Amino acid sequence: MDIFVQIYTMLNIILFGKPGSGKGTQAEFIKEKYELVHISTGDLFRQNIKNQTELGKLAQKYMNNGDLVPDSVTIGMLKSEVESNIYANGFLFDGFPRTVDQAVSLDKFLDKKNLRIDLTIAIDVNEEILIERILNRGLTSGRKDDQDKIKIKNRFDEYNSKTSLLEDYYKNQNKFKIIDGYGNIEEITKRLYNQIDQFI
Ligand code: AMP
Repeated sequence: MDIFVQIYTMLNIILFGKPGSGKGTQAEFIKEKYELVHISTGDLFRQNIKNQTELGKLAQKYMNNGDLVPDSVTIGMLKSEVESNIYANGFLFDGFPRTVDQAVSLDKFLDKKNLRIDLTIAIDVNEEILIERILNRGLTSGRKDDQDKIKIKNRFDEYNSKTSLLEDYYKNQNKFKIIDGYGNIEEITKRLYNQIDQFI
């Protein structure tokens, strides 16, 4: 007898970490290995700024100061990016969600599509090291928010007051893992693969 069983095969991962913790770098490796669509809200905003879209103009002033862009704008942008890649094997969210409202919206949105977040991993690095890394990156990235210590500190404040609440949010769903973000790039990649491989 032929039995058709539909197996849930999508893999949806969120990468957390303070600014400069290496999310973007590591996302490149993870998306290749697990064939995921990488969605970075920071990259999407920067692309919109470059193309001088209305969304970009709106986001620019928040980003330049190191403030979070309002949820109403960010959530809409994220949803339309997911919608346009709906046949993906899975998503790797980088820089989203950053607030509890964003996380709740994402859960509701995925649930309507019979999808879910499977795993969230935070890359842990202390702020002193991150400030040095970000200022260094600012020498070549051209990012205003990478070039000024006050703006960098503000980005950490945003993380500590809003994004860090998501640790409990995902711990309550049994989906929160943390890895040590010190060491060279390959070592950190291995730690991430290890967490993902334990899940799948
Ligand atoms: P990132 O490239 O992830 O460091 O993001 C750079 C900046 O983009 C942040 O400091 C925010 O101003 C904005 N941004 C990116 N993602 C979000 C988000 N999920 N919610 C609000 N603002 C965001």
